[in-house]
Amino acid sequence: MLGRRSDQRGLFEADVQYLDVVGEDSFYGFLATLRREVFRDEDFAEFYAEDGNGRPSRPPSLLATALLLQTYDRVSDQEATERAAFDVRWKVALGITIEERPFAKSTLQLFRAQLVVHEEGARIFERSLALARARGFVPRQRRMRLALDTTYILGRGAVKDTYNLLADGIVLVLRELARSTASELAAYAAARGMDRYVSERSLKGEAELDWDSAEERARLLQGIVTDAERLLDEVRTQRGELSAGSPEDARLAQAAERLSQVLLQDIERADGGAQLRQGVARERMPSVHDPEMRHGRKSAQHRFDGHKAQIAVDTESQLITAVDVVAGNAPDNRGALDLVEASERDAAAEVSETVADCAYGDGATRQAFADAGRALVAKVAVTRNGECFPKTDFTIDLDAERCVCPAGQQGIACYRRPAAPAERRVLRGFRFRAEDCAACPLRPRCVRGRGGRTIVVHPQEALIQQARALQASPDFAPYRRARQAAEHRLARLVQLGIRQARYVGRAKTRFQLLMAATVANLTLLAGHARAAGRETPPSPAATLLSALCSLIALQIVIWPHGGARWRRLATHAGAGTRSSPALFAHARMAPCRPYF
Ligand code: SF4
Repeated sequence: MLGRRSDQRGLFEADVQYLDVVGEDSFYGFLATLRREVFRDEDFAEFYAEDGNGRPSRPPSLLATALLLQTYDRVSDQEATERAAFDVRWKVALGITIEERPFAKSTLQLFRAQLVVHEEGARIFERSLALARARGFVPRQRRMRLALDTTYILGRGAVKDTYNLLADGIVLVLRELARSTASELAAYAAARGMDRYVSERSLKGEAELDWDSAEERARLLQGIVTDAERLLDEVRTQRGELSAGSPEDARLAQAAERLSQVLLQDIERADGGAQLRQGVARERMPSVHDPEMRHGRKSAQHRFDGHKAQIAVDTESQLITAVDVVAGNAPDNRGALDLVEASERDAAAEVSETVADCAYGDGATRQAFADAGRALVAKVAVTRNGECFPKTDFTIDLDAERCVCPAGQQGIACYRRPAAPAERRVLRGFRFRAEDCAACPLRPRCVRGRGGRTIVVHPQEALIQQARALQASPDFAPYRRARQAAEHRLARLVQLGIRQARYVGRAKTRFQLLMAATVANLTLLAGHARAAGRETPPSPAATLLSALCSLIALQIVIWPHGGARWRRLATHAGAGTRSSPALFAHARMAPCRPYF
């Protein structure tokens, strides 16, 4: 059942005793002062059995805080567990006593798994936005200007070449087949002459062939493909004996599906047998261990394997208002409108306009925003036409259906044939007379073929013309600056570790991004509160403790042989800023990082 934290603060909780030592303006101190405001145990009640059933859990508000600390410090689950047990900064942030060991590693992992399975990571992120609203960081009446951007995330799965990818797929299937027949993996593989796939050496190392010989390479590949096909046949037989939909059947089907996908994407059949497919399939899976990873491209030279993080940022407050993770090969503009709508919903503030780079400046995205009644400001990509005049050198008047070329000639409007008689005619482009172009002195810089030049009108030409006019005017400069907000926030997320996925799969990677975005927002809020001089005033408990310490100090003067614990309390909690080597010997003290 749900375990709850008491609303009363204990005198021996670390945040009461050591907040001054850790620093109220550190992230740990900020979490300590706001802990009850950020998370409530009741928010996570649906993860637990009804009250009265079973033992109380570890308070979920404490575990959620630990996940944020883990993201902030970029530590493993084991390290997070140890820091919660021995690090004063974590104890202050968690609000636990020095002696307390608040959770086991598996407890933290289970809690995170529940958040991922129930897609509740977003709830933690939303709390950071709710806090921003509650503190007036996002005024209710203010309309937001959003900036959108993306960055890549390297996937968790190992990326391998086709030989080793096939071998990994074969091991996946072998493992599930051995499991379903209650056999040892090594024995199961050896019985089928496939022990080379499960040996400690890599398949290619085991092969010991002359890699310069195309014949030997082809023989090795054919052997692997034959083994893979044999195993897939075996899976079909084995699945016939399992009840459809059972967990064993599902696992076997999943492993076989990954192996089949590698065969389909990387192998083609030829007369001489199997051979490597030329080129890269668009949806190629580069790792069987994380089948959702994809080959992506950040620029012409820069390639990566993994996923893509998308963010929306309020350009004024710099708060991250929405995040998502899409496939590594997805275009940057996928789901752009969804991010805007999510921002409006979660930040509870209207979005006046959205700013983005030219990856969002295509006609379809502009049309989607226009249809939704939203303003999008995104640069139009530069149009090139080799050595010849680009389309932008022609003056196109859509209302008058006129197009004038650099030589001053007027093109003939061409229309698309209407599909139905009632359909309005649609301008498709302009054609310049062949005789005009033949006599034109500019022809070498305009036309490559024999006839006249043609200019195609884009389906969203009007929107693109509007965007071009804006970006050529001085009014565009503020938008260029506003867009940098998203770049800065992406840099902060990279600092918090999102460049490398910690987990396998897109759902868990999205969770990682949500945690990083929450920490980025909270540090921003804390910095803002400090700058505005709005730190939380001393709590009644702290005031009471201060008075108590004075009394204890008086008692020690009168009673020199008093208890060690009270002495310690008087030294550290009363003085507030001094530290004892004996007390902190077991704690990992390092200078607290300032806010970003
Ligand atoms: S070649 Fe034709 S379209 Fe090009 S500038 Fe000359 S007349 Fe105009």
